[in-house]
Amino acid sequence: MSALLHPLAYPFGLALFSVVVALLERLRPWRPSQGFVRPRLGWDLLSLVLHGHYTGTALALVAQAWILPHTEALWTRLGVPRGLVSGWSLAVQIPLALVLIDFVQWWVHRALHAFAPLWELHKIHHSIEDGEMDWLGSFRFHWMESVLYKSALYLPLGLLGFRADVLMLHALVGTLVGHLNHANLDLGHGPWRYVLNSARMHLWHHADQRGSCNYGILFSAWDWLFGTARMPADPPTRLGFDDLASLPRSLPAQWLWPLRWPAAKTDAHTPGVTP
Ligand SMILES: [Zn+2]
Ligand SMILES: [Zn+2]
Repeated sequence: MSALLHPLAYPFGLALFSVVVALLERLRPWRPSQGFVRPRLGWDLLSLVLHGHYTGTALALVAQAWILPHTEALWTRLGVPRGLVSGWSLAVQIPLALVLIDFVQWWVHRALHAFAPLWELHKIHHSIEDGEMDWLGSFRFHWMESVLYKSALYLPLGLLGFRADVLMLHALVGTLVGHLNHANLDLGHGPWRYVLNSARMHLWHHADQRGSCNYGILFSAWDWLFGTARMPADPPTRLGFDDLASLPRSLPAQWLWPLRWPAAKTDAHTPGVTP
């Protein structure tokens, strides 16, 4: 079976999308007062290098080499249909993977907001403040988020028999859409807004206390279906959350931040954060 994508497609795609979206932000900024040089640019550039798709790729390799071989009997006992889609054509595997993965990610994202320990992790992504929301903000998150998202995806999809390069194609599409959804571009997608997530919708996700709307990654359809869509005509006036000042600002300190959660949960009620 010939390869759909070259192994270097991801790093090339990441570089190309980054340059193109950064240029578009300079040419047609939605919020013109925001420049390329902005607070915490250096930490977010480091996040791009460290995250990208690489944590997920490393996890997939670990799962393939050390986890899957030891779980054969378990999947058989549970009746999981191993390799169900492996014989299916790319024309079926690609759209199916895009929709399935996005649906699972929508629920993972909801869980990151709904459960207090997970919210402590996800706060790092929501620490994007006014003047910091651009394509690069897509990469500001805790590395444990990758573990959660990718474990929920690559293990079941690998078991079902999706081709590895179909999963890489999803990573490329996800990276481009992630860039665009965080970009300083006035993208609302017109009538397609009921299907595709957009910068307009995702900006409101970042404006909400602990987020209660627009959990979509690629597709907005899940939010419209489950009643969590919010898309006012104007951008929000403020991003972040009320106790943002308590979150450290450097990347190393943010990575260590969730370790304090067991102690922090005994703290007094955090203003603005509802259970
Ligand atoms: Zn975001
Ligand atoms: Zn969120």
